[in-house]
Amino acid sequence: MSAERIDGTVVAERLRARVAEHVDALERTGQRPGLAVLLVGKDPASEIYVRNKRRLANEAGISTFEYFHSASVSEEQLLETLGLINDDPEVHGILCQLPLPDHLSEALAINTIRPEKDVDGFNIANVGRLATGQEAMIPCTPLGCLILLRERLGSLAGLRAVVLGRSNIVGKPMATLLLQNHCTVTIAHSRTRDLKSVCRQADILVTAVGRPEMVRGDWIKEGATVIDVGINRIPAPERGQGKTRLVGDVHFASASERAGAITPVPGGVGPMTIACLLANTVIACFRARGLEPPDDLWL
Ligand code: NDP
Repeated sequence: MSAERIDGTVVAERLRARVAEHVDALERTGQRPGLAVLLVGKDPASEIYVRNKRRLANEAGISTFEYFHSASVSEEQLLETLGLINDDPEVHGILCQLPLPDHLSEALAINTIRPEKDVDGFNIANVGRLATGQEAMIPCTPLGCLILLRERLGSLAGLRAVVLGRSNIVGKPMATLLLQNHCTVTIAHSRTRDLKSVCRQADILVTAVGRPEMVRGDWIKEGATVIDVGINRIPAPERGQGKTRLVGDVHFASASERAGAITPVPGGVGPMTIACLLANTVIACFRARGLEPPDDLWL
């Protein structure tokens, strides 16, 4: 079998177009959605992410506000900045780019962001709401994965899902979303015994481990849908000295032989993450205006 390629770039473009329509609608009510991004230190990868988020937000008509602190910023200063952004009525979504330097508590920073502006969905209030099936801001990467799965499969009810990885930002919320969508869910991690046979049971396999091409074709059930969240940079001497390339957690070529559908890396989950961030910002803006967010936002 040669798997269908699930093109996250195309789905994300459609979602961003939908976001832009709703930004127009909000502007007609006198409010343009605003996204604030807070970056601490000078991590080159984080700077690229922030630049991309700004460009795509602006293309969709969302205002962006950027706040930079040096890596030596004190916790007090950081929390003060977050407090100011919390109180800014032009800002509907706040993103604190992670990771933070070691001397700063990520949990404290995230929990300082008002839940209604927490467009990453990492604040403990949103985590609790999501886990208990209440209205929540849903973390962008798992939400993007869910949209791709629904695009491919329609209803997920009754399917056996394995989530490889148990981080707070991907693995755990992904498992929660799959459970809410009536899958039978297993969460696997570094202590899981016989990982290969666990993965082979999955109708849906979501991998978020950060281990280049760890999941091989013979880990995959015939016809499964595979969502590869991993983004790993590996040496690519074939492209020239010192060159690198991105790969996922899944070995794409061998997995494509068995899967029914699979996301590529790059061009799979990555673009969906940013599109969902923009959609969450629009949702936050609707709610701030006392309006019900539109049902048709999620394609
Ligand atoms: P974390 O490092 O926080 O979590 C990794 C998880 O993988 C842990 O639960 C860990 O288990 C598990 N794990 C690690 N090694 C193994 C192994 N050999 N066998 C089984 N399980 C293992 O990573 P994140 O969740 O933050 O990110 C995962 C990947 O997704 C990364 O490559 C990251 O770059 C990418 N990512 C991509 C995004 C996108 O937009 N596409 C967004 C966010 C992340 P344990 O808990 O036991 O240690």
